[in-house]
Amino acid sequence: MPDLTVVPGVGKASVARLERLGIHDTDGLLFHLPRRYLDLRPVAIGAIDDDLEWVTVKGRVARAHARRTKRRGLCLAEAEIEDDTGSLRLVWFFQAPFRRDPKPPIDAGSKCIVTGRVRRSWDGVQLHDVIIHPKTPTEAFLPIYPLSEGLSQKRLRTWILWALDHAAPEETLPHSLLEQAKTPTLAQALDMAHRPSRPEDPEEGRRRLALGELYAYYKEAEAERRRAASGIALSCPESLMPIEEFERALPFTLTEAQRRALAEVSGDMERTRPMRRLLNGDVGSGKTVVAAYGALRAVLAGGQALFLAPTRLLAEQHQRTVRSLLSPWSVRVELIVAGMDAEERRNVVDAAANGVPMIVVGTHALLSAEFTASKAFFGVIDEQHRFGVDQRAALDREGRMHILAMSATPIPRTLAMALFAEMDVTLLDERPVGRKPVDTRWIHPQKREEVYAFVRKQVALGRQAYVVCPRVNPETGEEDDGAAAETFAARLASTWLADLNVGLVHGRMSAQEQETTMRAFCEGALDVLVSTTVIEVGVDVPNASVMVIERADLFGLAQLHQLRGRIGRGNHQSYCLLVTDPQTTSALRRVNVLRKYDDGRRIAEIDLAARGPGEFLGLRQSGRSDFRFVDFTKDIGLMESLRAWRAKSARH
Ligand code: ADP
Ligand code: MG
Repeated sequence: MPDLTVVPGVGKASVARLERLGIHDTDGLLFHLPRRYLDLRPVAIGAIDDDLEWVTVKGRVARAHARRTKRRGLCLAEAEIEDDTGSLRLVWFFQAPFRRDPKPPIDAGSKCIVTGRVRRSWDGVQLHDVIIHPKTPTEAFLPIYPLSEGLSQKRLRTWILWALDHAAPEETLPHSLLEQAKTPTLAQALDMAHRPSRPEDPEEGRRRLALGELYAYYKEAEAERRRAASGIALSCPESLMPIEEFERALPFTLTEAQRRALAEVSGDMERTRPMRRLLNGDVGSGKTVVAAYGALRAVLAGGQALFLAPTRLLAEQHQRTVRSLLSPWSVRVELIVAGMDAEERRNVVDAAANGVPMIVVGTHALLSAEFTASKAFFGVIDEQHRFGVDQRAALDREGRMHILAMSATPIPRTLAMALFAEMDVTLLDERPVGRKPVDTRWIHPQKREEVYAFVRKQVALGRQAYVVCPRVNPETGEEDDGAAAETFAARLASTWLADLNVGLVHGRMSAQEQETTMRAFCEGALDVLVSTTVIEVGVDVPNASVMVIERADLFGLAQLHQLRGRIGRGNHQSYCLLVTDPQTTSALRRVNVLRKYDDGRRIAEIDLAARGPGEFLGLRQSGRSDFRFVDFTKDIGLMESLRAWRAKSARH
């Protein structure tokens, strides 16, 4: 790929500025897409309505006037432009450093074409931020790019256009796929994005770029599936641990969905073809017991099971849970996390390398080269969306393990099949019986005192409570409005909750401190746990029946749902109190959706419609972040085309 310096006009300083935008070569320039476009096709003044953001109009300047502002060199121009359908006021700033009496950049009586931002005011529509076109523009749309300091739209555009003409990339996708998906070629797509001639061009171009990303993703997934299919795992027969016998030893009755999931996992583990299964179930649907069963089977077959968790808190909790679920069989359950005691670690690492039958629960430390489990038959990846395909490969380096990935992100089925093309999907679509829906309420910050009186009442009944804050420390200049966990915990402990045991946990504390606090909360030594989102995934304390979410407006819908999933896990009626004074309609919408629905799948669909699943699935923070152009709300069709194409090409 050509270096940026081949582009005429790009010098050393510009290279540094482009790098800041993530642009490192000419391809980078070409894949730097406009944020939006200005429509340069003139519209009739009478036809402008509020829906239009930017418009171009062509007409005669009825009057024009300019004056200085208080800022040095800055002048304000006002003009009126008219055509056959009406007239319009223009207001914009411009620089005129030297002259005493500023002259407006357009003359009364002349004809002109201008583009501006539509603003409605009390005396009609105005155009602001006006751009004057010295001659009739040849292009229909003007792309507006994200910039970094020191770059101008004009220069960036010139460079991109140069790259389009001199360094257009070759097509990377099979022609038959482009035909199947009805998308243009890569070169055409880039052209459509940077110099569209029709309003639909940018979207059509984007679809081709999205197809490229999906194709790359599918290839990776397919390679992983092939690798798994060609591997040979050890069969762990069901006779080792019949499902009914397992259930009899549990402290609860399984749901039908759990039984189905167990049967599927059981069937997979019977075979020597490595299992690749995604267990998808809403928070609290009881995924852990399914994983524990698989792990038990592996150990009873004389092997080891690895249990990968995204955070240390979760790893520690899983260790406790799995230990207690499997206590009737006295299985060894060890932990491996970063920063643990060196000798303890040595012991676990040695035992794992020597093939001692056991379960090892851990964070990324499980994936380090220093750790090898010589007889790992079974692997669990909890909260799969936090990990990527490559992590699965790292867990199972030789492709000989049965792997169960678990995700609490309720993914609509079509999307699950498309995104997890390399896996079989099991849905856990039922909740354990006796669960009452969480009573979710929205409360104004002025009523905080009542909120915490309620918390005290619940504690008096023997329950526990979470208080979640969006940040650890207050931002500079911020008042203590519940946003910062540290200050707010101190405030609670000295005021409303002075008579209770209040703990604090957040990501900036050492792992040791986090663990101690969490354990104290699990064991009931703390009544109230103030925390940040470190408790978002997986934490399981069934006795906790209240969750207060401070500044709930600062959280996303998915996050709120995940957080709320921490309560309503026992038989007690649970309450989620969203303390906020939402300032935006979208924040208000999130609060209302949460009050109305408690089914994760429903919430996922709503969230998906509102902003795409990128954030919902946590794609941004995982190995699946390589979707810059895919828009999951629009591109299900593309995924289907890709599927159809793969099926066709597999047949040939
Ligand atoms: P998640 O799917 O969110 O990981 P967990 O596996 O942590 O859910 O289970 C949530 C809680 O429900 C745990 O306290 C677990 O012991 C309990 N649980 C799981 N299955 C059942 C069941 N069939 N009946 C009653 N409680 C259950
Ligand atoms: Mg879980």
